[in-house]
Order: sequence, then structure tokens, then C-alpha cells
Amino acid sequence: MAAPRSEGQLLLEFLQQKMYSHLGRLDEFGPQQSDVFDDEKEVARSIEEMLAKRAALVTPEELATLRTSLTAKIQRDRAMDLPTRFERRDDYLWMRYLADEIEAAAQDLGMRIPVRPLLGTLPTGWPNGQSRWVGAEYIVMFDSELFGFGLLLSQVVVLLMPLTRGNKGQFSFSNDLSKIEASIDEKPELVQRFCEVVLAYLMRGAPSALTPPYELEEPYNSMAEVLHRSMALFLMAHEYGHIILGHHPNTGQLQGLFNSVLATSALDSSGEQKEMFRSWFQEHEADARALTLTIRAMQLKGHDVAFSYWGVDFFLSCIDIIEKGVALVRAGEESVNGSSDTHPSTQLRRGIVRDTLRGVLRRNGLSEGAAEAPIELGSCLEKTIAKLWARLRPVLVGLHKEGRTVSPIWP
Ligand SMILES: [Zn+2]
Repeated sequence: MAAPRSEGQLLLEFLQQKMYSHLGRLDEFGPQQSDVFDDEKEVARSIEEMLAKRAALVTPEELATLRTSLTAKIQRDRAMDLPTRFERRDDYLWMRYLADEIEAAAQDLGMRIPVRPLLGTLPTGWPNGQSRWVGAEYIVMFDSELFGFGLLLSQVVVLLMPLTRGNKGQFSFSNDLSKIEASIDEKPELVQRFCEVVLAYLMRGAPSALTPPYELEEPYNSMAEVLHRSMALFLMAHEYGHIILGHHPNTGQLQGLFNSVLATSALDSSGEQKEMFRSWFQEHEADARALTLTIRAMQLKGHDVAFSYWGVDFFLSCIDIIEKGVALVRAGEESVNGSSDTHPSTQLRRGIVRDTLRGVLRRNGLSEGAAEAPIELGSCLEKTIAKLWARLRPVLVGLHKEGRTVSPIWP
């Protein structure tokens, strides 16, 4: 028998139902809803594909052990209860994975996490996560397309970075901006891809369905995966940062949230919600905590500081694109500095995050200069996105002039 559902789960399902109904998308979640594990043949194929990549590196016995453990993991994932009937299994498993990594990093750093939050997605166009205290638990929620969008842009960016081969034969990426600029000129198909991905998110709210991820060759596949993981960990770690820092009032939220949703068809900018937004100061505090957690989580998987940090900086570039894009299609111009009453601009966040990185490395006994190479890599990605944005911008201005409107997911 299924376990009784918590207040948080009931609230999350209510919000999801409200939003999917508002968007006319409830029929995606009927009894026939597809599950990532439905296709047995596809599951078996992907296990064999993973094993084939390892085959040259391990003995046949190790490979057999790996097959057994992968199959057992998939059985567990397939049997896992989803928190609500509107949660997709692959999204949920991905969020659980990120939460596991952040909690392991927190434990390693001696940070106490009071309780594992309930994780969920909502089609809200929030460029950041949101967390609330409901009943006896935290709910941490993300826009249902945000992680997928991050992967799609990670793929475009790593494909634009020129590959170099070290003297031991290992690959690395050059962050020489002039070479990346040349790459943008030489690979118009990637500029086109960037524009399609951003347009699919802004105008239709569905980048993963309309522009599915590429199947990339190595080493691009691994590099895109590392970039995406670093950014997704930061996104999750930011919400854990709020929880660790005790930024959530403990009572009185539930009724207010119900009222605000009942009063408005979209989950945005009602007075009740605004009250729940945190001050800029708390946002920066959560960013600083998230940076420390992300770097430790990536280091625990063997990544150096630069490849632990680059996704953090890149995440800020991605949300900058979203915020500017929505404003441009709606109003014909980007907002002046991107700040709002409730959220600091991404430029401000980026500056503080980069300063925090210097502090984190200094406290770890590294010289202040140790932060410069990772920041240079982040800055290179920032400039790459700015170049791509310059190509997309006139298209968005054109859409504004035609009177087109962005997807209703956007607040
Ligand atoms: Zn926050």
C-alpha cells in the first residue's frame, strides 16, 4: 500500500495541477503517461552502451559486476515512488541524484542539513529554484525545463570550444576567446542551434521536446555532462544553502500559498509570493554557500577547481539569457540592469560569486591567484554566450515587432 502523502506532496501536486491545467497540458499526465523505464529494450540498450564505453578499461569480471549493479540500480529507480502524479521519473531521479551529491558534500564539509527536502518541478519559468517550508518539510521546486535547457546550452558551448591534445594524449579545451569567435563564424549550425534552443524555451516553454539533446561523440559528451552537472549542482545547492542558513520562516506559509494560487491563474508576483521572496542579501548568502558545496561535490568526483566552478558561472549566463530574452520579446528592450525588487541582477551575482571563489580557495590554503584560471574559464563562457546572444537579439526584436508573445510559463 502506498505511504500516506505529506502536506508538502499534496501542496506540490495541487500547484502542478493548477499550472498544467492553466497551460492546457493536463493530458500529458494521464494513465498512459510514458515513463523513462517503460521501454525495456531501450533500457537494456542503454546499459550495454554504458558498459561498452567501459569495456576497454576493465576486466570481463569487473564488467559483469558492473552490469549486475547497473541492472539493480535501474530496478530500484523503476520501483521508486514519485512524490506526485505530475512528476516525471527522469526529472525526479536527476533531482535526487543532485541532492545526494550536495548532501555528501555538506557532510564532508561538516555542514548540517536538518532534513531532506521534498523535490519537485513546476512549469513556471522560474529562472532559479524556489524553496518553502510547508507543514513539517521543505519543498524545493524548479522550473520543469530548466535543467534540460542547461544541458542543451552546455552542448552548444563545448562544441564551440576548440579541442587541444596534451602531451600525454589527453584532451583539453582551449578557452582562447579569439579561437572561439572563429569557431562561431565557422560553425553557423551551432549558432542556429543556440537560437533554436533559446527560442523553444522562450516562445514555447519546451526546449527539451522541441530541440532534443544531441548524441555527442567523446570527449564532447563528457565535457557537456561535466559542465551541465556543475551548473545543476549549483542550482540545487543554492536551495540547500537557504535551508542550511535557516532562511525559511517555519509556519504560516501553507494557507497563504494556497490563497495566492487560487487567486491568480499563474504562480507569479502575487503579494503573498512577494512576501516569501528573500532579500538580496540572503540570495548572495545562499550563492556563497552553494558555491562551496558545488566545488566540494565536484571535487569529490575528482574534478579540478576550474571544472568544478565553470558551471556556476555558466548557470548565471544561462539565466541572464532567459531574463533578457523574455524582456526583449515583451517590451522590445532588455531591462536596464536585470535587477528586481526580489532578485539581484545576474551581473551582481556573478561578481559576488567570483569574489567568493577567491575567498573559498584562500581558506583552503590556496593562493588568491588560484581562482584566476577558473574565473577566466567562466569569463570565456560568459563572452561566448554574449557573442551568441548578439546573433539572436535581432530575431527577438523582430518577434516583438510582429507582436508575438512568449510562452505563458514566464512570470
Ligand atoms: Zn534563492
